[in-house]
Amino acid sequence: MSDNLRAVRGMNDILPGEIALWQHFEATVRAWLAGYGYQEMRTPILEHTGLFKRAIGEVTDIVEKEMYTFVDELNGESLTLRPEGTASAVRAVVEHNMLFDGGKRLWYQGPMFRHERPQKGRYRQFHQVGIEALGFAGPDMDIEHLLMTARLWRQLGLAGFVRLEINTLGGAESRARHRQKLIEYFEARKDQLDEDAQRRLYSNPLRILDTKNPAMQGLVEAAPKLIDELDEVALAHFEAVKQGLAAAGIAYTVNPRLVRGLDYYNYTVFEWVTDKLGAQGTVCAGGRYDGLVAQLGGKPAPACGYAMGVERLLALMAESGQNPPGAVADAYLVNVGEAASRFAMTAAEALRDAGLKAVLHCGGGSFKSQMKKADASGARYAVIIGDDEAAAGEASVKPLRGEGQQQRVNLAGLAAIISKE
Ligand code: ATP
Ligand code: MG
Repeated sequence: MSDNLRAVRGMNDILPGEIALWQHFEATVRAWLAGYGYQEMRTPILEHTGLFKRAIGEVTDIVEKEMYTFVDELNGESLTLRPEGTASAVRAVVEHNMLFDGGKRLWYQGPMFRHERPQKGRYRQFHQVGIEALGFAGPDMDIEHLLMTARLWRQLGLAGFVRLEINTLGGAESRARHRQKLIEYFEARKDQLDEDAQRRLYSNPLRILDTKNPAMQGLVEAAPKLIDELDEVALAHFEAVKQGLAAAGIAYTVNPRLVRGLDYYNYTVFEWVTDKLGAQGTVCAGGRYDGLVAQLGGKPAPACGYAMGVERLLALMAESGQNPPGAVADAYLVNVGEAASRFAMTAAEALRDAGLKAVLHCGGGSFKSQMKKADASGARYAVIIGDDEAAAGEASVKPLRGEGQQQRVNLAGLAAIISKE
């Protein structure tokens, strides 16, 4: 197959063999979110490029090098495939004035796009489930988010595989003080900075702490800590979050180096991480972003949220031995002969009228070869129709799983037999 007829590198097909796990995950997530009163919203996959620059920050990995940005040749607009969901969600909330009557609990899911180096757990099209609570200032909402994630891990059978790291980034003033100290610290050690860090020194020194360069670990380890700059309000908020976790019995570690890769965060930030997926170990991440609504033109409103990486969670579920069965039909309709084939179509529709799942054999073939297909389909029953049966308006029904005799019945009898159990 020539290269340009293949899928784009880093963008995956999700095939029928994998879909049972996706659907199990999605159904669990939907029910879980309903249990907390979150409402789904859907936004376009394309947005104006300026939205992401403004929301995520110019000096971030995503905006600097990961966005799929192109000019719409029909009108000259610069557009970007969404790299994450928060910017779009907040844009929609502001655009539709959704906070006019109070706070909102929202969620969304779908593909996100980042031009990264593809590897296990890191793709160019990947999927997130995102949760956002807008209009809530207090630590009670931070705690709700942490509690609900812990519940989801239990429901997905992942509780033993993930652990929680939290940190606080404080408010604007403490961040400004910390920023100044960081610049002074790194300026004095400029020769030890790699190229990325040199570039970020004045534009976004906090992000230097987020470096993955092993050669710089010692340097960032010893850098001035934000926690030493925090004011009382920030400390009290963080303390309340920690108490909420303790009260709910959720274990966590405070990681002072957790700063997150997006500019919009303040106060609480967190990540759920696993050791089972190699370097791509963060399966869920988020925190508070009180400034973003105003930054995108809305009336100031506090907010917090988080996003899960669906592929990484599914990989973890597979790793933990989960292999949910795919959906199978109640009946597979075998038919040989022209009249039989016409009648089988009617019989299949009658089964569906009765709320059953029926697969009609198409494309002919002998009874024997069709029976093999019926068996392989996993269906509970084979419904066998020859021209004889068709002429009598009847069908033979044979259980494919477990005990039971083949019986010949009319259509009402057929639905009744298959509906049992
Ligand atoms: P990382 O440090 O792994 O690059 P990130 O901080 O860029 O993650 P976020 O923007 O916080 O990631 O996105 C939330 C979650 O989405 C991540 O924790 C991860 O599970 C998932 N995710 C992010 N980028 C990718 C990707 N390229 N492929 C698959 N999943 C991803
Ligand atoms: Mg990233």
